Amino acid sequence: MKIKLTKSKRLYKNAQTLMPGGVNSPVRSFNAVGGTPAFIQKAKGAYTYDLDGNKYIDYMSSWGPLILGHSDPDVVKALKEAAVKGTSYGAPCQDEVAVAKLIVKSFPGIDMVRMTNSGTEATMSAVRLARAYTGRDYIIKFEGCYHGHADFLLVQAGSGATTFGTPSSPGVPKSFTDKTLLAKYNDISSVERLFKKYEGKIAGVIIEPVAANMGVILPHKNFLKDLRSITKKNGALLVFDEVITGFRLGMGGAQKYFGVTPDVTCLGKIVGGGLPVGAFGGSKKIMSMVAPIGPMYQAGTLSGNPLAMAAGLATLNKLNRAANYKKLKTLTESLVEGLEDIINKLGIKATINSVESMFTLFFTSPAPHDYKSALSCDTKKYSKFFENLLSTGIMFPPSQFEAVFLSLSHTERDVDKTLNGLYKSLKDL
Ligand code: PMP
Repeated sequence: MKIKLTKSKRLYKNAQTLMPGGVNSPVRSFNAVGGTPAFIQKAKGAYTYDLDGNKYIDYMSSWGPLILGHSDPDVVKALKEAAVKGTSYGAPCQDEVAVAKLIVKSFPGIDMVRMTNSGTEATMSAVRLARAYTGRDYIIKFEGCYHGHADFLLVQAGSGATTFGTPSSPGVPKSFTDKTLLAKYNDISSVERLFKKYEGKIAGVIIEPVAANMGVILPHKNFLKDLRSITKKNGALLVFDEVITGFRLGMGGAQKYFGVTPDVTCLGKIVGGGLPVGAFGGSKKIMSMVAPIGPMYQAGTLSGNPLAMAAGLATLNKLNRAANYKKLKTLTESLVEGLEDIINKLGIKATINSVESMFTLFFTSPAPHDYKSALSCDTKKYSKFFENLLSTGIMFPPSQFEAVFLSLSHTERDVDKTLNGLYKSLKDL
């Protein structure tokens, strides 16, 4: 059964004449799965509501930031209070210091932090910092990892770049990516080879400590530890892109979860509680490179603005209760275990990679461990599954290569309903 999307269809047609693909970020267009994107008119807790009155249990959580769920009362209250006091000062404010304090306290690898307005700005600046600090030019990134859309990081990137089969983008001069070296996720020998070949020239290695943009892929045991040793040995910086994992795997992100401390950390998403935010941080020594105390330039008109900081602070303060992560994990486990049972019962060729409150259902088997194995997924099957699931009122991400995110607003009842929808959707494939 198809859902009625009359108003969304009309608006989408109009939107397509005004914005490329009718959207402001590619994956939202449903290009990867086909069909018309539902235009959302409001959202509360675990649910979104579209223009045609359809209600969805939302598992996109705005691609990760909304770990408390939509329109959380404490976040809304903080935003209201902040808005009447001014939306941007272009001057320092109190909440910036409070958010910075919480970040520094939570992340072993961060003594000092700089706020930005997006994850893209955070990773772009972090790589500049690694280059400035080491005086070297080359960086290593991993196939299938997405670090935003800065030119030199758009090489074999995941997320929308994978979805659309354009791993590199036209408009990026070859000379801009000449210094970007590619290694294979979970393959330390591919990193060793690069360090050998480019001895003394590599500024840093940037990685999603849990890859989430080729679907969720966990690092093999010791992979991150080995990366830590090899970067240290070669005088290169280890940069963790924790835009997704930061405050998702726990208050200390992936670095605390796996016990591996990077030199530089990138944050985004949850840190802004649903408003545009990014951040990068590191040791005092490394961050002392950053202007105005150091020579590396980095800036932003709206960076650390009072609205984003208020939403971020309210989110982090609420999240910062031990029981919350336990609750998220337990809930996710019941969904993942239930889904595994369904897959087994129906004999479907699919597997799940999950960690804490995020997971991906891959239409392939065995479970992917790198970009190549992720690309072996049956994306046509995912599209059909997505469409079936949507018609039961459940919104998974509209691409095989993204993560499902649970929030503290999801309940056992939502999970039960979701498992019913999943069973129906998979049975009807
Ligand atoms: N890094 C990672 C790991 C991401 O998942 C993303 C976005 N999904 C980014 C960086 C870029 O963040 P933004 O979209 O806020 O620029």
